[in-house]
Amino acid sequence: SVPLSFFGGIGGASKLGILIKGSNYLESLASVDTVVFDKTGTLTSGTFGVVAVHPAEGVKSDRLLELAAHAEAYSDHPIAMSVKQAYGARIDETRVSNASEVSGRGVQAKIDGASVSVGNDKLMASLDIDAHNCELVGTMLHVAENGKYLGHIVIADMVKDDAAKTIADLHATGVTKTVMLTGDAEEVARSVASKLGLDEFHAKLLPQDKVAEVERLLDEESKKGRLAFVGDGINDAPVLTRADIGIAMGAMGSDAAIEAADIVLMDDKPSNIAKAIRLSRKTMGIVW
Ligand code: ADP
Ligand code: MG
Repeated sequence: SVPLSFFGGIGGASKLGILIKGSNYLESLASVDTVVFDKTGTLTSGTFGVVAVHPAEGVKSDRLLELAAHAEAYSDHPIAMSVKQAYGARIDETRVSNASEVSGRGVQAKIDGASVSVGNDKLMASLDIDAHNCELVGTMLHVAENGKYLGHIVIADMVKDDAAKTIADLHATGVTKTVMLTGDAEEVARSVASKLGLDEFHAKLLPQDKVAEVERLLDEESKKGRLAFVGDGINDAPVLTRADIGIAMGAMGSDAAIEAADIVLMDDKPSNIAKAIRLSRKTMGIVW
């Protein structure tokens, strides 16, 4: 039988902007012991600032940013939004054709007829382009035109205000493992993980690698506790579905993610996850 407080639990949660799609998820949430986070837009704000622009010899900085912004014309990834914002000027869409996203890697488009690629070292490697490395900690956006390397832009994101407190709260609530999965570089991931006090992080993952990582964590789990995955939705639908409980951040989340998720957070504050777990445990009468 279902205790009456069940309905109070879902209703109470919805007043906090936490939409739980069924009472079974409230029950699962009460026994969560592993919380896995996507990085960009979930633990970090997803608003990247440009830290440095490093054009290759003979290339102008302005040109690098202009090409990157135009290649990102049709992408709504947080990186794309930030590059367009940094460029500042109007994007002339008549110059852009054949634009496509390469999930977990970057974007490609024809700009003024030339093939432009913007993305990480995986994208450059897949094109056989030798991308330079730099010492700065940040997300590197390499730019290539017609197979020629034009340089890179270093961008950086900030952790959300309440992210560190959320991780501490989760540990205090009895969550034994907090994990971050990201497609971003190792150094960026390490810096965010240590700032936040996460137990584990895995970097340079493609969307399908995130699913594999969640499956590994599900296997190694004692089966006593459940695993929740929290994402902002960009490319996250498969992982949201695979986790015991998929939690989507509604404000930034894509329609596909909201559809795939079991729980939707109306705003993008990570602290709502700790709140939701506390509330579910209270509702289920579990004292931690
Ligand atoms: P995260 O795992 O941090 O949420 P994604 O899986 O969305 O990030 O992206 C992983 C990496 O792929 C990014 O760090 C970036 O290097 C590259 N990337 C993804 N989308 C874009 C884009 N629109 N423009 C440039 N690079 C991108
Ligand atoms: Mg993401």
